Amino acid sequence: MTSARRGAEPDLRDVVALNPLFARPGEATELSRFTLPDRESLPETAYQIVHDEAMLDGNARLNLATFVSTWMDPQAARIYAEAAGKNMIDKDEYPSTAAIETRCWTMLADLWHAPDPRNTIGTSTIGSSEACMLGGLALKRRWQHARRAAGRPADRPNLVLSSAVQVCWEKFCAYWDVEPRFVPISLEHKVLDGHDLDDYVDENTIGVVAVLGVTYTGMYEPVAEIAAALDRVQEATGLDVPIHVDGASGAFIAPFLQTSLVWDFRVARVASISTSGHKYGLVYPGVGWVVWRDTAALPEDLIFRVSYLGGDMPTLALNFSRPGAQVLMQYYLFLRLGREGYHRVQKTCQDVALHLSARIGAMAPFELWNDGRDIPVFAWRLKDGHTANWNLYHLSDRLRARGWLVPAYPMPADLTELTVQRVVVRNGLSLDLAQAFLADLRAEVAYLDALTGPMPTGGTRPGFHH
Ligand SMILES: *Cc1c(COP(=O)(O)O)cnc(C)c1O
Repeated sequence: MTSARRGAEPDLRDVVALNPLFARPGEATELSRFTLPDRESLPETAYQIVHDEAMLDGNARLNLATFVSTWMDPQAARIYAEAAGKNMIDKDEYPSTAAIETRCWTMLADLWHAPDPRNTIGTSTIGSSEACMLGGLALKRRWQHARRAAGRPADRPNLVLSSAVQVCWEKFCAYWDVEPRFVPISLEHKVLDGHDLDDYVDENTIGVVAVLGVTYTGMYEPVAEIAAALDRVQEATGLDVPIHVDGASGAFIAPFLQTSLVWDFRVARVASISTSGHKYGLVYPGVGWVVWRDTAALPEDLIFRVSYLGGDMPTLALNFSRPGAQVLMQYYLFLRLGREGYHRVQKTCQDVALHLSARIGAMAPFELWNDGRDIPVFAWRLKDGHTANWNLYHLSDRLRARGWLVPAYPMPADLTELTVQRVVVRNGLSLDLAQAFLADLRAEVAYLDALTGPMPTGGTRPGFHH
C-alpha cells in the first residue's frame, strides 16, 4: 500500500542515512540500501533504522480498506512473543501446539455444523488463500479419481465461480490448470445466486465456489440457493457437483450474527469451508482454516507423511515451515471470547456498519450498493447524473489526504463500468471513530460539490485492496 502510493523507493539514493543522534563514535553514518552491508552495526543502530522506516507505514486505525486484524490485547501479544520461535510444521517437537491446532479446527467444524465433528478433517493454513487452494485441490482430485474410476478423461477440469471472487481463486485456476467459469454479476444478480448454473456446469466441473462475504461488497452468496440449483442440475443430468464455501470473512460472522442462515455443512452439498483467522477470527496475520465435511471429502493422496522431523507426521499444506504462534492466539481468542464474546465483537462491528451506511446512503450524491448487514462491509456508488465535476476516485484522494484509506474501484464483469467505494468495519472502528470519519466525508463531499468546474484530472485509481 505505502510503496504503491509513494512509488517503490522514489529516492534512488542507494544508502540509508543514520540520524546523527544515534550514530556511535566510529560507526558508519550511512548503510547501503540495496546490498548487504559489508560491516556489522550495533543492535541499537540497526533497530533504530528499522523502527524509523516502519514508522512511515500508514495508520492502521484509519485504514477502512483492509479486512485483516491490526489489534490484539496484551495477553495475545504475550503469547505471540512467547511462541514466536515455534514452527507449526514441527508437530513432533511441539505436540501441544499441534493438539491445539486440531482443537481449533474441530471447534470450527462444530460451529459450522459438521454432521460428525469427530469424523471431519481440517488444518490451519497461512491464510484463506492457502485454505482455498487446498479446498480447490481436494475438489479437483476427487473429480479426477471419480473420472478415472469411470474410465473417463480427467484432463479438462473446470470450476464455476462468480466474477466477483477474490484473486486467490484466479490464482488457484492459473496455478493448477483449472478452467475458471465465471458467472458475471449484474444489477439483477448482484452475487452468484444459482441462476443459469446449468449453462456453466458440465461433467468436467470439479465444484462451485460460494463466497460468504464477497470482497467487493461484503454481500453473502446464498449457499442454500446455489445448492438447490445444483440439485436441479443433478436431477436433469445426474451430475453431483460439490460446493466449497469461501468464508474468509463470513464464516466468522454468520455463526454469531445470522444464526438462522443455512450456509454451512447443514447444506449437504458443502464439501469444505475455509476462513481467515486473521480477519473476523480476530488474530494477527497470518492464519487461515479449512475444514472438510468428512474424511471422504479429502482424498488421502493429498496428505503426506514425513519422518524427518521425528515421528510420522501427516501434513496437508502448500507451505512447510510457518509460524505456530497464530494458532495459539486463535485458541486464546476461542477460550477468551467464546460464542458470547464473538457475538458481542461482531455485533458491534455490524452496528457501526449499519450506522455508517444509513448516513452515507442518505447523503445526496450516493446510492448504497448494500448496507453491511451480511459481513460488516458495505459499498456505495455515485448517483447517476449527480455531477460531472468529480467522481469517487477524487473523493478517495481527498479522504486519503485526511489519513482515511477508503478505496474506490470498478466492479468486476459484467459491471466494470460501475465504480463503487467500500468501507470495511473491523474491530477497532468504534462509533466515535466512525463519527469522525463521517464528519470528514461530509466536509470533502461539500468541498467537491461546491466546485464550479470539473476536477483537473480524472482522479487516480488506487490499487484494489483485498
Ligand atoms: C481475504 C479473502 C481471501 C484471501 O484471504 P487471505 O487470508 O488474505 O489469504 C479469499 N477470499 C475472500 C472472500 C476474502 O475476503
